[in-house]
Order: sequence, then C-alpha cells, then structure tokens
Amino acid sequence: MAPLIVAIDGPSGVGKTTVSRLVARELNIPQIDTGAMYRAIGLAATRAGVDVKDEPRVAGLAANASIEFVPGERAKTILDGEDITDLIRTPEISMAASHVSAVPAVRRALVKLQQEMGRRTGGVLEGRDIGTKVFPETPFKFFLTARPEVRAQRRYRELLAKGQAVDYDRILADTIQRDTQDSTRADSPLTCDDTYQVIDTSDLRIDDVVAAIVDRVRSRAAH
Ligand code: C5P
Repeated sequence: MAPLIVAIDGPSGVGKTTVSRLVARELNIPQIDTGAMYRAIGLAATRAGVDVKDEPRVAGLAANASIEFVPGERAKTILDGEDITDLIRTPEISMAASHVSAVPAVRRALVKLQQEMGRRTGGVLEGRDIGTKVFPETPFKFFLTARPEVRAQRRYRELLAKGQAVDYDRILADTIQRDTQDSTRADSPLTCDDTYQVIDTSDLRIDDVVAAIVDRVRSRAAH
C-alpha cells in the first residue's frame, strides 16, 4: 500500500506545526516539518556568516546538510547531529529561512529529502508547497489560513511563553513581510488550488481543525 501522505500548507503562524503534530499522532504517522528544514539552512548560513542571498554558497550549505527529525511529544530537529529545535525559532532565523527558501537549489535539495522521507514512512508534511510541488498526487491536501493579526498574536504569545523579548508590532510586520516574500517568489510561491480543502482557523479551536482533517482523511481513505 502507498504510504499515507497528508499535506498541510499555509502561511506562517497559522498553527500548522501544532495541528500537524496532533494529526500525525491521531493517524500514527510521522510529522515532517519542512519549515524546520528551511530554518536549519537559515541557521547554518547565519552561523557561517554566509549572506542569505548568496545563492551558490547557500546552495552549498543545503547540499551538505544532514537534517533529521526525532519524533516525540515535541519533535526534535537535528542538524549535523546537533539538536537545533529551539535555536531555529527566533525572529532572526525565521527571516533567514524565508530568504534561503527562495533559492531554487536549496528548494531542490530539500524537496528531494522531503520526498524521500515521505516515501519511506508516510507522514504529515507541513509547509508551503507540499500539495503543489512535493506530493502533488496526494488526495489529502489542506490549506490553513488565518487573519495576519491573529497569526501575529499567536506567534507573540508563543515567543513570550518561551521567555523571549518580543514586540507585537515587529512580529505583525514580519508576518506580513514573510507572507509577501513567500507568495511572490519565483520558485514555488505559496499558493493553493481547488485540489485543497481550505480551512480558516482564525476563529476555530485547534481540536476542531485537527478533527476536520482527521475525519476527512479517514473517510476518504476508507473508500
Ligand atoms: O513554516 P515555517 O514558518 O517554519 O517556515 C519557515 C520559512 O521556510 C517560511 O517563511 C518559508 O519561506 C519557508 N518554507 C518554504 N517551503 C516550505 C516550508 C517553509 O519555503 N515547504
């Protein structure tokens, strides 16, 4: 039987990571956070002092990086053997990730890795281009949306809870800037089409979003 692939795409701060973790747990398949992979390359570039817009050098980093996930209550992201889970969640790395993700060679390297991971184990893949580029053939595609203010507010609370000093206005401005970068880049812009089920999460509880996705997958997988 073909591995079960669930694609969850949408803009930043829409709750994809939390929703994906819970959907993966319900369906008993791995969670594959593709945003964390672009963040890992953003971190590697920042650490190496490589300009995130220097395409050949950023591409070199992506070609040589080893990225893995360790499943768990909160999945860990491992870059070249180092646990970088918390290091990649800062506003600086969010922005670096958005820049490196516009480099075609970076996308090629990471998409290949995502396809290998998904084919091996199946999974809930969250990202921007899962249903359009990584696994366009899966019948299970969900596009989560929410108003920018709602998304910025969620990110603000998340960072505050981690004890990071944050400014709501900066997060809102960053959210809008990343949306623009992600949806206007030439290679694999953030878009959805009518093969997706769109879910506006602005006024929904997480459990309701998870239930909507799991019910849909179970009912269609049963046919
Ligand atoms: O989802 P997350 O905010 O962690 O993603 C970080 C960045 O990685 C996004 O701003 C986006 O530019 C990029 N990304 C992407 N394609 C994906 C996942 C993330 O371009 N499949």
